[in-house]
Amino acid sequence: MKPRVAVIGAGWAGLSAAIELVGQADISVFEAGREPGGRARRVDTTSRFLDNGQHILVGAYHQTLAMMRKVGADPETLFERVPMQWQQPFGMRMWCPPLPAPLHLMAGLVTARGIGWRDKYSLGRALTRLRLAGWRLDEDVSVAAWLAREGQSDTLCRLFWHPLVLSALNTPVAEASMQILANVLRDTLGSPLRSDSDLLLPRSDLSELFPLPANDWLGEQGVRLVYGQRVERLQREGDGWRVAGEYFDAVVVAVAPYHVEGLLDDERLLSVIKAFDYCPIYTVYLQFPVPVNLPGPMCGLDDGADWLFDRDCLTGETGMVAAVLSAPSEETVADRDALLKRIVAAVSRVDPTLVEPERSRIIAEKRATFAARVGLARPDTRFGLHSLYLAGDWVASDYPATLEGAVRSGITAATALLQDFTQNHNDDE
Ligand SMILES: Cc1cc2nc3c(=O)[nH]c(=O)nc-3n(C[C@H](O)[C@H](O)[C@H](O)COP(=O)(O)OP(=O)(O)OC[C@H]3O[C@@H](n4cnc5c(N)ncnc54)[C@H](O)[C@@H]3O)c2cc1C
Repeated sequence: MKPRVAVIGAGWAGLSAAIELVGQADISVFEAGREPGGRARRVDTTSRFLDNGQHILVGAYHQTLAMMRKVGADPETLFERVPMQWQQPFGMRMWCPPLPAPLHLMAGLVTARGIGWRDKYSLGRALTRLRLAGWRLDEDVSVAAWLAREGQSDTLCRLFWHPLVLSALNTPVAEASMQILANVLRDTLGSPLRSDSDLLLPRSDLSELFPLPANDWLGEQGVRLVYGQRVERLQREGDGWRVAGEYFDAVVVAVAPYHVEGLLDDERLLSVIKAFDYCPIYTVYLQFPVPVNLPGPMCGLDDGADWLFDRDCLTGETGMVAAVLSAPSEETVADRDALLKRIVAAVSRVDPTLVEPERSRIIAEKRATFAARVGLARPDTRFGLHSLYLAGDWVASDYPATLEGAVRSGITAATALLQDFTQNHNDDE
């Protein structure tokens, strides 16, 4: 007998859970929005589709890439895969040649421009010490404290560490967990596979990368997909749960932490969630009347922390640039006109032919990711709520809030659910 399972939320975590359950459960997916994808999807603006935020993946996202392949989305055509590189036209420039790991990184560091020999040595030494420690800290500390301990200079922090931490963890360095950063470094720069540190830049919109192919594939497998239905409070019933008026043997709750409150009144879980804080990501889309010619598909803005994406060369959207601001301070984004002016001026410095955009759009995701702070306790998929499994980028894992974290959590939730169901079934016989 197959269990009847309700998956709540069709973000990358919920979709992955449903895909993993196919063939072994009778599945219904409930999604509050009208489309799948959650925090990584395209949005319909008045003139065109835009991503809710520019995303970047890395070669180490093995589970995400496997999920994409499973539903027929080909990573080879959907991404521009570029070797690890760091392009700040007015800062640090590094490009890792196609040598076996870790030689590619060493060569990249030695030939890097924009930082002196002392900084190259100090950066190489800090990474080597971390590698020799197995990418584990005896005790977690903030990235800022670790950088001070490792004697990283102000220049290195401004040009390398701060932009890296903001793009990987979307959390200010003073609060960000060094252990979580070390986990990301372990799987990318520290991986024995050079391709794990490649950058994967989407060539299509985010929905086409995975959510839409996943939706179509699930539909073909007979999964019921219900969009535009926000599930209200879950009711316990016997060994299972009542969801949207129907009985289910088990539930996968794959919503963001701040949406759990509306679904469950478990005090223990709610108190864990109360400890979460969130950081914003702003994406500024600029449509210029002329073709874009940035020095690379992704390059840093002059103040070091923000990144520009050449959508003209990546997605073929002629004249389009996306600027990403990770965890910006409130003052930086308080005045939208001033923000726009600052970004346009910075873009013009990188490519002087880009002066006046014809159109612009700022998409603010105020709670884009949880703040990956030192000591944050994240719940396991099995939280002691019988036949209920948590999924989402915030559920216990060694990753920050990322697509890979979301996909892995969906797989973990589905695996735990099936294990428990089989076990309970065997016990009953
Ligand atoms: C602007 C931005 C940029 C980012 N950049 C990157 C990046 O470059 N690389 C990277 O790896 N990650 C990035 N991330 C993080 C990544 O997008 C997230 O980690 C991931 O999308 C989270 O997926 P999820 O399925 O866990 O949650 P969500 O995407 O939040 O999915 C939850 C779903 O549940 C639905 N839902 C909520 N409540 C209910 C309810 N009661 N009933 C039914 N449905 C409900 C929601 O509508 C939503 O669709 C970025 C995020 C943002 C916002």
